[in-house]
Amino acid sequence: MENKEMKIKVGLFGSGGVGKSTIAIRFSKDIFVEDYDPTIEDEYKKENDLNNKKILFYILDTAPQEEHYDPFPRYVQYTDIFVLIYSITYKRSFEDIKYFNERIKRILDIEDKDYPKILIGNKSDLTMKREVSIKQGKELAKKLNCKFIETSAKTGENINQLFYETILLEIERLKTIEE
Ligand code: GDP
Ligand code: MG
Repeated sequence: MENKEMKIKVGLFGSGGVGKSTIAIRFSKDIFVEDYDPTIEDEYKKENDLNNKKILFYILDTAPQEEHYDPFPRYVQYTDIFVLIYSITYKRSFEDIKYFNERIKRILDIEDKDYPKILIGNKSDLTMKREVSIKQGKELAKKLNCKFIETSAKTGENINQLFYETILLEIERLKTIEE
């Protein structure tokens, strides 16, 4: 019998303030939050039926390292699909993506092999404050060998697409590679 349920563990990675918590909350509860405690780590669930199949998203909203404890390796082990997020209004967060990519690869111990990921430029509504162009985002995605979209957790732009299209397409792609 065909498996009618699919569980996907999505890890949200990126520097502080890029919008990880806001994206998780926007997608799972369909609201925009102005201020969310940056130190909280949380797991959100969202269930939906798509073409007669139940899709269960588990979304890990990661928190920064604490003084005596670094949860990063545990986050990496948890994750099936890595969402690497920067803010289009903050160049530094874009540069940090390379660091996250390297750390993830080191923990997965895969060196030059690939892992499932998507690159996100969030805060696309703040066009007046843009520091990273769409072209730069696309170029980085090409280097990382992954898909790229810009999102806005504030307006909701491309948030559903991120989960229901981009992530599901990536899962399908991986399946065909594994088969
Ligand atoms: P995190 O540290 O990555 O979890 O970042 P947060 O989710 O806490 O977001 C940091 C700040 O950016 C908050 O004030 C959010 O309301 C704001 N924010 C997040 N996403 C967006 C967005 O798409 N557009 C705008 N204008 N603000 C956003
Ligand atoms: Mg947060």
